[in-house]
Formats: sequence, structure tokens, C-alpha cells
Amino acid sequence: MTAERPPVCSYEGSDYQASFWEQGGRGYEDAVEAVALRRLLPRSGRLLLELGAGAGRNTPRYAGYERVVLLDYSLTQLQQAAQRLGHSPRYVYVAADIYRLPFVAGRFDAATMIRTLHHMADAPLALRQVRRTLQPGAAFILEYASKHNLKAILRYWLRRQVWSPFSLEPVEFTPLNFDFHPRAVRQWLAECGFERQRQLTISHFRLGLFKRLLPLRLLVWLDSLAQLTGDWWQLTPSVFTLSRAAGETPVAAPGAFFQCPACGYANLEEQTDALYCPGCGRSWPIVDGIYDFRAA
Ligand SMILES: [Zn+2]
Repeated sequence: MTAERPPVCSYEGSDYQASFWEQGGRGYEDAVEAVALRRLLPRSGRLLLELGAGAGRNTPRYAGYERVVLLDYSLTQLQQAAQRLGHSPRYVYVAADIYRLPFVAGRFDAATMIRTLHHMADAPLALRQVRRTLQPGAAFILEYASKHNLKAILRYWLRRQVWSPFSLEPVEFTPLNFDFHPRAVRQWLAECGFERQRQLTISHFRLGLFKRLLPLRLLVWLDSLAQLTGDWWQLTPSVFTLSRAAGETPVAAPGAFFQCPACGYANLEEQTDALYCPGCGRSWPIVDGIYDFRAA
């Protein structure tokens, strides 16, 4: 396996959950995401991989799944998630790099990736990794930030923004924060082995003006109606997609779960505070019940 990896955006030590979500006036964004998830995610399943789980804001929405693996690059975000959700066989907490996912191929029957592609310098590489861990037919919900939104288009036409919202390349508006063109994301999904099924546009009313003038429940109701136009046009800052893992790829053997992200060896030995890899001799620490696969 190569050592060459794109840079990673880490929320280590961040109070993102409290400052952005709980005190940041994001009740509207959170509620419309819940509506989209309810519409797209199959009701039940066995094992769901939540990529970029953060502090577990969305995790309770996966109640129909027997087990959920919460994956994030930040150990402190996962510690917050574990505090909220607790340690039980139902949840597995994994700190890892999305470009080197520590799971055997064909393990999961569902995956979600919400507000996470946004931080990927190499989005297709991340999507290929996700596809590798999925069984054929698995559901994959991907949310991405769209550069092709009404506000960006107006600003571009009024010459208050230099980058074009119509070109296919991503725009990095602050370091490791990317907005993507919907057509580019659709191409990557197809190239990476996904068959797209549905799109919902989200956050039509993400403007301070709307949020001040209209009650939250009315805004959420209006957005949930407007979401349904997502297959026809995409002009919102956020888009949800449902895809299926396409093609005849392997299904993981029963019991196979982790694989070493450094050498690919699949039979890691669980010790008291680490997973030991006989393939390359590395030990991957287990910290507060969280598997940590980040070390080089
Ligand atoms: Zn190894």
C-alpha cells in the first residue's frame, strides 16, 4: 500500500458539536437533514458505517440498524459521541483516515457520509475506499456541499465572486473546505462503482432573513416539499444522494471485520489495549474503547 495520502481535515479538540450545532442556530439545517435521511435511508439493516460521524449527531437516526460503526478522524469527537451514546455492542467507535479505511472488503450493508466529503481534497479516492467496504447492493447516502447554488450564482453574476459556480472543478473556499459541482459528484459516484438512485436538495432557506422571519417548523415543512425537486435541478448549498453499490464485488466472510490500514492484513489480534497486526508488526491502540488506526 502506498504512503502517499491527501491532507486530512481534523476536528481534533474542536467544540464543533456545541458551537456549530447546539448554540449556532442550526436547528433548521439539522431538521431538514433528518427529513432527507428518513426519505432516503432503508428503514433497517445489519451494519451501517457512518463516515465522519463526529460527536454522533445523526447516529440516533440509524435506530433500525443492528450495529453502527462511527468513524471519524478525530478521537475527541468520538469521545464526545461515546459519552452521548455509551459503550455497547451496538456501537463501534473507530478513529481512522477515510483514505485508508481499516475494514475488510464487502463488510457493510449501508453507509452514510454527511458533511464530510466537504473536507476531501481527493473526493474520488475517498469514494473508492467507501465502495470497497460495501457489499453489492448496499445503500450509500452521500451529502455534499454544492458550489452550484443560487447564492453563488447570483454573486458570480454580480461580480462579487471570482470563481465560477458552473465549472466542474471543486472550489476550496477555505483550506480543506470544498464545494463541488453536482455533475462532478455524479460522475465520481459512477466511476467509483455506485449506481445513483435519488437526489434531494436540502437547505433551500439557509439565509438569516428566512430564519428570522419564519417559524422553524414552517421553514422545515417548506424545505421538505422543495427537497423533492432534487432529481430535476440542484440549486441549494447542500445535496443528499442515495446510491447502491453496483457490480459483483466480494462479500466479507462471516466474522471478518478490521483489516490493517498499513498492510491490508485481515486477522488482527485483539489485546487488552491494542489490535496487533501479525502482517506488519504494528499495534493499533484502543483508547477509551475507541479503535485508533491513525498512526502512520
Ligand atoms: Zn499490518
